[in-house]
Amino acid sequence: MKIKFYGTRGSFPTASSEARGIYTLKWGGNTTCLYLTTNNSENFIIDAGTGSRLLGMDLLKTPQNGKTPKILFTHEHQDHVEGIPSFAPFYNPDNEFHVYAKENPRKIEELLRERQRVEFFPVAYSIPGVDGVPCMTAGKMHHDIEKGILTETVEVSYCATNHPDGCVAYKFRERNNIFIFGGDHEFDLKPEVDDKLAQFYEGSKIIALDT
Ligand SMILES: [Zn+2]
Repeated sequence: MKIKFYGTRGSFPTASSEARGIYTLKWGGNTTCLYLTTNNSENFIIDAGTGSRLLGMDLLKTPQNGKTPKILFTHEHQDHVEGIPSFAPFYNPDNEFHVYAKENPRKIEELLRERQRVEFFPVAYSIPGVDGVPCMTAGKMHHDIEKGILTETVEVSYCATNHPDGCVAYKFRERNNIFIFGGDHEFDLKPEVDDKLAQFYEGSKIIALDT
């Protein structure tokens, strides 16, 4: 599998400023977004921070042939969803996406619709608003990640991390290759969660942690 990091920063995207000692002109300026491609050309997006704006532009250049990437959210904090309004493939009515998150007790679609109310952004997430407010026209099917994902070649599972309002780490297993994206996690506060994560991480070849 191949993994490309479109965004790695936490909280806020950061404009480059050498004078301030922040070197983000080439990389590191956008918030969380990863793009994973399996050996069988199945594609997954992990989180949609501001890095997803650039990913969306790249996807426009690549014929999708009706196979859009599955989108997985570790959680719904601002830095993991703030690229959605600028994700260009969401504006194409011919596209249909499957969106996954750990929902209980909250629903991912409701949250994403709420944060794109007209008071915050002039284009709605999934349903046109009153008074002619348009929406992002791509089809979006929302799923609880509860049972994980099993495709022809890859198995996706998850484990809860320690983070306000909940968050998950994702494990992608393709034959003997295991990649883990750790989600936001605060170590050393809940030993039982740390222990479960340590077991979850076992056998992985690459772990990327957002801490
Ligand atoms: Zn967070």
